[in-house]
Amino acid sequence: MSDEENGIEKLPGVGPATAEKLREAGYTTMMSIAVESPKNLADLCEIGEAVATKVIAAAKKAADIGGFETGDIVMERREKVGKLTTCSKALNSLMGGGFETQSITEMFGEFGSGKTQIAHQCAVSVQMKEKDGGLDGDVIIIDTENTFRPERIIQMADALDMDSKEVLSRIHVARAFNSHHQMLLAEKAKELAEEFKVRLLIVDSLTSHFRAEYVGRGTLADRQQKLNRHMHDLLRFGDLNNSVILVTNQVSAKPDAFFGDPTRPIGGHIVGHTATFRLYLRKSKGGKRIVRLIDSPNLPEAEAVITVDEKGIRD
Ligand code: ADP
Ligand code: MG
Repeated sequence: MSDEENGIEKLPGVGPATAEKLREAGYTTMMSIAVESPKNLADLCEIGEAVATKVIAAAKKAADIGGFETGDIVMERREKVGKLTTCSKALNSLMGGGFETQSITEMFGEFGSGKTQIAHQCAVSVQMKEKDGGLDGDVIIIDTENTFRPERIIQMADALDMDSKEVLSRIHVARAFNSHHQMLLAEKAKELAEEFKVRLLIVDSLTSHFRAEYVGRGTLADRQQKLNRHMHDLLRFGDLNNSVILVTNQVSAKPDAFFGDPTRPIGGHIVGHTATFRLYLRKSKGGKRIVRLIDSPNLPEAEAVITVDEKGIRD
């Protein structure tokens, strides 16, 4: 247990039992409590709203809210932004050179549209030298659908004349069994990044557990709030480690209870607003895939055509 977790018990009005409830509900840090609303906290932890308000106020004082920084510091960090090759020139140029570090790139699309293939490809290419389009780093994969395949990595590494054994040894994979576990693994990733130079963090899929667990209209606010926190954790990881954050999101087959439109990615505005780059993938003829860039802060909306074959992702 971290010091921060221990601290929860010291909040006024929080005894061991409430602290346990907080942890079970996913509030493992001061920050997570500080940004919560009294009503949500009261409901989830079965405490009065007045107590919840006090707890939140105290957590705000204890949490490291972060501060303002001057433009030159922000610029210094921006100058370090790296671009990761996807092994497709067309996709790289769609992305202004490759997937950016310090940003979240979201890929959404139907089952089989190639999201996991691109993730595997990047897990290999990130290990290449910077002069070759890589970031010379390790990768963490949070696998929620049990679709990570080392055999596929070997194929892709061989195709790039890389030592596949070494490539596999720099991929750190964990399976997430539910959304709560997934969020804990994102926190654990920070520790791993102290030991290894992690330049890519993949969450494949970001939303499947959330979608399965939070069903029905009444659960939506809670789901969005958790997803929001998770996304911000990921973004922070990207900033701290100057790494690429790559997440996948499935298009709902059934209409979403909230958004209705079956072609909309789940997670709605929360995922959409936190992801810096959104890519919509769809299948085309002959193993081709069409990738459309949507909502980028500094790049035009456009499309690229890629292929998925034994070697991996190519033009
Ligand atoms: P999703 O978007 O659901 O994550 P995937 O990335 O898993 O989809 O894409 C699966 C598709 O990738 C398969 O249907 C197949 O077309 C292609 N694919 C997977 N492995 C290979 C391979 N070794 N050689 C060629 N194509 C492959
Ligand atoms: Mg997949």
